[in-house]
Amino acid sequence: MIPYGWQNIDQADIAAVVEVLQSDWLTQGPMIERFEQAIAQRCGAQYGVAVCNATAGLHLACLAAGLGEGDWLWTSPISFVASANCGRYCGAGVDFVDIDAHTWTIDAEALAVKLEQAARDGRLPKVVVAVAFAGQSADMRSIAALARQYGFTLIEDAAHAVGAHYAGAPVGCGEFADMTVFSFHPVKIITTAEGGMVLTNRADLEQRLRLLRSHGITRDAGQMTDESHGAWYYQQLELGFNYRITDLQAALGLSQLTRLDAFLERRRELAARYQRLLAHLPVSVQAPQKDAESAWHLFVVRLQRDRIPRSHREVFDGMRAAGVGVNLHYIPIHLQPYYRDLGFNQGDFPQAESYYAEALSLPMYPDLTDAQQDHVVESLRRLLELSVGGADD
Ligand SMILES: *Cc1c(COP(=O)(O)O)cnc(C)c1O
Repeated sequence: MIPYGWQNIDQADIAAVVEVLQSDWLTQGPMIERFEQAIAQRCGAQYGVAVCNATAGLHLACLAAGLGEGDWLWTSPISFVASANCGRYCGAGVDFVDIDAHTWTIDAEALAVKLEQAARDGRLPKVVVAVAFAGQSADMRSIAALARQYGFTLIEDAAHAVGAHYAGAPVGCGEFADMTVFSFHPVKIITTAEGGMVLTNRADLEQRLRLLRSHGITRDAGQMTDESHGAWYYQQLELGFNYRITDLQAALGLSQLTRLDAFLERRRELAARYQRLLAHLPVSVQAPQKDAESAWHLFVVRLQRDRIPRSHREVFDGMRAAGVGVNLHYIPIHLQPYYRDLGFNQGDFPQAESYYAEALSLPMYPDLTDAQQDHVVESLRRLLELSVGGADD
């Protein structure tokens, strides 16, 4: 079975991890800071705070933004559940803004309309999580302008978008988002097994992220409420968590980072090839977002249902039967039982729901070969019953 995503681990990665295993530090050693600085520097951000996964990063970012009970977090319904759950972890209410029909990222115009209404109702969000879907940023310029107008903190969930660009600058540089969160899960662009990072240019946010990452404990005398008792002394200032990453993981991440450009290059190549090979099939691909340059974490197609003889589910199952490990990113978050229990219903976000009825993630990872990709496209072509004369290549 050709998987939809797969990590690329080489001998240098393995050697980097083994070296840490043989060193004095397995966790909280020098590799974490090196990894943080390397990612921050690559993205043009002041600060990087590495965490045990992006879900923890989103949680900390929300806490650093001051999100709490009585507040609201808004995000896109087409994302992984973590983009919304981070608000619930803080005791805040979660609401959604529908996706744009073509870019499949949060619809900035729908956001503007909803904000206007929320301002009248006194229910403005404190945080908006804009997801860089499939590796492509949302309309961050417009959303950042709304953030300034309405005073919310803008977090970019860039779990898919390590190495992506927006407005000519790396995602994570902080020109538009207050904080950017990366994931280093194995299916994402580079991996630390589990892992994530929050990038920001604001020293106040960085300090809170670091404090909350490690139990709310400080060893910095300058932060303490009174005199230190001695060299052993630390103080817990807030209720924090153990969301730390390890040196083993940071070493893996640093080693992976040396191949990031090669990974991105191959993903771009595969995406361009998919676009060419699929051009004559009854499917739609993600529309380019103005100013955005995708990292191509996912390659999603939408079936043009009225032009094909099979159901969405039949095509999905048929691809799996043909040895192609397609997937579906994502089930609209508001339709999950947990969110339905909070009052959401079918019909609340029609663009997200019609996306869900048509979407299919095709295999996309650097080691996917052209021959495998040809098999993916040919399998899809057969299922759409256009095997004769349907394409010119
Ligand atoms: C993978 C993912 C996350 C969570 O990342 P973890 O590192 O697995 O916690 C969050 N948001 C999006 C959009 C993701 O795809």
